[in-house]
Amino acid sequence: MLVGIGPGHEAHMTQRAREAIAEADTVIGYVTYIKLVADLVEGKEVIRKSMTEELDRAVSALEAARAGKRVALISSGDAGVYGMAGPTYEVLFQAGWQPEGDVQVEVVPGASALNSCAALVGAPLTHDFCAISLSDLLTPWPVIARRLEAAALADFVVALYNPKSGRRTRQIVEAQRLFLRHRRADTPVAVVKSAYRRRERIEFTTLQHMAECEIGMLSTVLIGNSNTFVRHGLMVTPRGYASKYDMADGGQAREGERAGRSLSTGLDGWLQQLQELHAEGHDVAALAARYRLPEDYIAATLAEPVAAEPAEPEEVSET
Ligand code: SAH
Repeated sequence: MLVGIGPGHEAHMTQRAREAIAEADTVIGYVTYIKLVADLVEGKEVIRKSMTEELDRAVSALEAARAGKRVALISSGDAGVYGMAGPTYEVLFQAGWQPEGDVQVEVVPGASALNSCAALVGAPLTHDFCAISLSDLLTPWPVIARRLEAAALADFVVALYNPKSGRRTRQIVEAQRLFLRHRRADTPVAVVKSAYRRRERIEFTTLQHMAECEIGMLSTVLIGNSNTFVRHGLMVTPRGYASKYDMADGGQAREGERAGRSLSTGLDGWLQQLQELHAEGHDVAALAARYRLPEDYIAATLAEPVAAEPAEPEEVSET
């Protein structure tokens, strides 16, 4: 059982995670995580591993399972998010394991650091977001840098995992540099350390000052998108209601917009607009620059006729 135990406090561990640990004969995990679930592992065989022994942990788990033991392999947060689930499956496949064989595998989901940290600072992930790990222990820096650059350009809210350690101090500075190419210096940033643990600490800052914050191995850095704001100590990314509905006027849809329908600048409306501009003489290159999209994409969409609006009303629950 690959068990995600959530951020650290037992109140934020799922019932299935608790059950899985209770059912286990053998519990394997990084020392810190074993400490977080100390009261649940009493009387069990406990194998404590250090941070760098990930593959060892997976191998030990397989050996114990093959010996007939029920094994719980513990990850903080979610076992599938920069956790043990991947390495474990890799070790299993390498050992010739098959899903229908003797050793059964269950991945038990948990609240990942981005969920926990977001909850503590407000609602920063309410629009498109992504997670990027700054750890270059297993990933080349150009790969990480390219993803940072792409996420910054595409205006994702970003959760930075493994932002900094004793030895890795420059990565966060490089991340900041790449973000500043596309985002305003005053973009809100929250640094959350040890969410739902004893030494929990939350710091609000901006992109400009992010690298000066106290950041470590136990921190997650949340960088807002171009619409994210901080008010009354809460970091919020709007979903877009305010631009579609007049919030002051009882939530009436703004002119040109309809509840339950795509925005006037949604796909259909935008395609229409594109055709009109093109007909007025704006060429593909100009349209590509205007919408910051690739020329071949603009050309391809222009080549296809715009479908007539469907007569059936769409579901109204969708916003
Ligand atoms: N599987 C874990 C992530 C492991 S990678 C998960 O889903 O959360 C380790 C990184 O996760 C840390 O460097 C930090 O960036 C983040 N992290 C894990 N627990 C955290 C917590 N309680 N508070 C803040 N960040 C945390």
